[in-house]
Amino acid sequence: MRPGGALLDLLIPHRCAGCTVPCHGAWCPRCADRLAALALVDGAPVELAEGVRAVGAYPHEGLARDVLLAAKLRGRHAALPAMAALLRQRLRLPPPGDGLGWTWIPSGSRSRRRRGLDVPERLAGPGAVRLLAGSAGRLGQTGRHAQDRRRGARGRFRVLGRPEPAIVCVDDVRTTGSTARSAGLALREAGAERVLVATFTVRADPADQADPADQADAAGLARRTW
Ligand SMILES: [Zn+2]
Repeated sequence: MRPGGALLDLLIPHRCAGCTVPCHGAWCPRCADRLAALALVDGAPVELAEGVRAVGAYPHEGLARDVLLAAKLRGRHAALPAMAALLRQRLRLPPPGDGLGWTWIPSGSRSRRRRGLDVPERLAGPGAVRLLAGSAGRLGQTGRHAQDRRRGARGRFRVLGRPEPAIVCVDDVRTTGSTARSAGLALREAGAERVLVATFTVRADPADQADPADQADAAGLARRTW
């Protein structure tokens, strides 16, 4: 605990990142239990391309989805540091250093402006370095030129600078994995050997269900504590 933390708590009581009741620590016991019950086993890793894997801490449901949507859409930004810590803890991700770099998949500029911050950047937490920029933005097909569309998935991101050999790349939610794959491939082409795309939640999607071993369904829910 930081010096003066107890005194600070008296002045500004901690609130649960999940339900906002006053509590000690980032999550109240009830929310901690609910999240622990949801957690994916080992992040249910998926191989998206050679050298590009993806893991997620929680399925996109229940409290995990609720806190993410509250942070993204309802401006509950105070929960983001607790969510970032949980992502690292849950997935046992090592901190940056020794050839391991951390970055994030940037939101589209419109989302950033609307939210006043970049949620994936906050989820990546301290020590993460900006390596990716949207080439056509994450604006969707309508906002992109035909040429960008032809360039396909890899053209969605530019890499700024030279990535470390191994990269943890954070995003808020993975659905089909196509954004994660594009970001991973862009980092690989820029020199990274291994990329792990780590998301707070994973949304079940028909496109993800080709390989049952990769699918984080009800059978894959852990009751491990964190
Ligand atoms: Zn709570």
